[in-house]
Amino acid sequence: MEFPATSATLLFRITRLVVLLALASAALVAFAVLRPLEAHMKAGVGGQEFAMLKAAAASLDSQLAAKQSLLRTAAARIAAEQDRASVLGKSLVEWGELKGEFADVMLLDGAGKVLARLDGSSSIGTVAAGVRDQLRALFRERKGMLAPLPFGAEARQAALLVMEPVRDAAGQVRYALAGSIAPDDARIGGQLAALSLGRSGYFFIVDASGTIVHHPDKRRLMTRALHDPRVASPTATAPAGFEGWREGRSERGEPALLAFKRLSGLPWTVAAVHPVEDAYAGVHAAKTGALVAAALVAIAAGSVGLAAAVRILRPLDELYCRVCDIEAGAADIAVLDVRRLDEVGALSQAFLSLSRQREAAEAKLARLAFTDALTGIANRRMLEDVLACAIARSRRAGQVVAVAYLDIDRFKSINDTMGHQAGDAVLVEFAARLKTAVRAHDTVARLAGDEFMVVFDGISVVAEVEEAAKRILACIEVPFTHGGRSFPVTSSIGIALRPPHGSHGSAELIGRADAALYRAKKDGRNRYAVDAGPEIALSMRLMH
Ligand code: GH3
Ligand code: MG
Repeated sequence: MEFPATSATLLFRITRLVVLLALASAALVAFAVLRPLEAHMKAGVGGQEFAMLKAAAASLDSQLAAKQSLLRTAAARIAAEQDRASVLGKSLVEWGELKGEFADVMLLDGAGKVLARLDGSSSIGTVAAGVRDQLRALFRERKGMLAPLPFGAEARQAALLVMEPVRDAAGQVRYALAGSIAPDDARIGGQLAALSLGRSGYFFIVDASGTIVHHPDKRRLMTRALHDPRVASPTATAPAGFEGWREGRSERGEPALLAFKRLSGLPWTVAAVHPVEDAYAGVHAAKTGALVAAALVAIAAGSVGLAAAVRILRPLDELYCRVCDIEAGAADIAVLDVRRLDEVGALSQAFLSLSRQREAAEAKLARLAFTDALTGIANRRMLEDVLACAIARSRRAGQVVAVAYLDIDRFKSINDTMGHQAGDAVLVEFAARLKTAVRAHDTVARLAGDEFMVVFDGISVVAEVEEAAKRILACIEVPFTHGGRSFPVTSSIGIALRPPHGSHGSAELIGRADAALYRAKKDGRNRYAVDAGPEIALSMRLMH
């Protein structure tokens, strides 16, 4: 019989504990290990992006420096060649390299008058007031400069202005060679556009005033990043312009990784925006992988725990089956003699010892049920069984059964004169003497009070019983002693016999013995009377 599977079983509870522990450890690992690891990995990603941005900014710086250097070389060549503006313009046109590097290049005099243009057009005019200020500064300081081109409110896009002085033979600044660069220039913005920042990241450039000067979305150009809460801005983070990386929100409002790096030669900041979902895709994949692995480990640990619990508890289940078998009568208590060093072994041995105690108690109870408590000889119940068996046996063996009914003479007076205890002692001694006076296979019983009975089995002649009666009377004749006093005790005996095929049963036989006892008492006590019965008289006499 299997132990019923319910949620109250040890197996269920141990399994639940193991599974919960496995899940809890997996969750703990996920929290205690994955969280710092995730933060570490994110920092790695952010640092990597910032490093990439720094490299891009450095590259832009060097690109601008290269353009400045090219313009400086051109200025030197112009200065070395001619001194006339028309010729100068021609040489400018011939300078093919400048074309690829600048949106426009102009030769200006100190008043801002355009003397020549790169495209060779003769659109002579005067540069804007903002440029004239920068021009004045150049003539004053006599050295080249790189600065954003001043723009008005209606400007559609920003530009950079590179100016280099053109000197005469005496070293005096005669003209200025000014080249403009659009941030969308292939070497500037194009380079940023070519840099890949995951699937959805992008770069933009913002100037010191917070105006976006380069952006992959042209609609954003010349808008104020600083006042647009949707646009990540370094000045929104720190007034001086934040440099580094941090988490924030992209223009679309989604969480993003933001990185900012100022250019060294310009008051411009290059910014990188990388939506977190894309930037941390690797981190999330690693995290998901780790969580799945932790869950799998938890499931595996739970399964192993379940298997182990089943295995560990199996002996307990087997013990339960053994107890059930004993209860059903299909096994002896010896099956509980399990030799194990664990708790199940101890429990088995405890059950075994308990069962043995129970068996012994049952045996004792059974014994008591058939024994006279005072004298220790058989009681009336046992006598009835013995007599019934003896009668059945006598039928088969063709032998006579005889019973002797004994009653101590004047026992009441023993009780009265010497006390009840003395009376008990006489009863015990009387029973003991009775046993010595009969054969081993004869049964001696105490029926009640001072009444005793002997069942004689396998009698062949009446004389045999009479001899036994005489022996009994003789052994009682020896005075009894109690409490240092000696006194005589006698008994009367009524004997009844039953032939092998007699019609009387136990009750009639006892009744006849009782009647014979009555006669013995009446005839003066301390004697026996025999009722051989009409059926037996003939055969018994024949046996003489
Ligand atoms: P009789 O010769 O006619 O048999 O006289 P008696 O005095 O023996 O009378 P009877 O056999 O009727 O008395 C039996 C007495 O035995 C009565 C009762 O007080 C006493 N008795 C019964 N059971 C016990 C017992 O267990 N212990 C003791 N001490 N006395 C008992
Ligand atoms: Mg009596």
